[in-house]
Amino acid sequence: MYRKNLALVAHDNRKKDLIEWVEFNRERISMHKLVCTGTTGRMVEQATGIPVTTLKSGPLGGDQQMGALIAEGKVDMLIFFWDPMQPQPHDVDVKALLRISSLYNIPTACNRSTADFMISSPLFDSSYLPARESFDEYLNRTL
Ligand code: PGA
Repeated sequence: MYRKNLALVAHDNRKKDLIEWVEFNRERISMHKLVCTGTTGRMVEQATGIPVTTLKSGPLGGDQQMGALIAEGKVDMLIFFWDPMQPQPHDVDVKALLRISSLYNIPTACNRSTADFMISSPLFDSSYLPARESFDEYLNRTL
């Protein structure tokens, strides 16, 4: 069993879905460390009793804090139930978070079925280092 850093974020219309998913999978999820954007974290903690590290609320910079944690290698998996039916005031932050998770090859679930596939994978509880590009060519570029 390898204790992972799981990042959870849900837009308002998707919070109920995320909390149900966490409750349904409480046993497996509680073995790991949870980091959430502010409101998602408060609700997950209240509903499940699982301790959560909370960042700022997403639209107030929490999505960017989460992105920074990913860039620093401090997130192993991102469960991000974003809302496909409502425009978000912090759309640029949402895009940035999805971009950075893709850049660093972090397993990312944007809906419940993908989250189900991830949590039922044997890799969910084992050590897994995502393959990363070195970015050498980019970092050493010249004019
Ligand atoms: P919240 O943020 O958990 O503070 O609601 C979620 C988001 O919109 O990124």
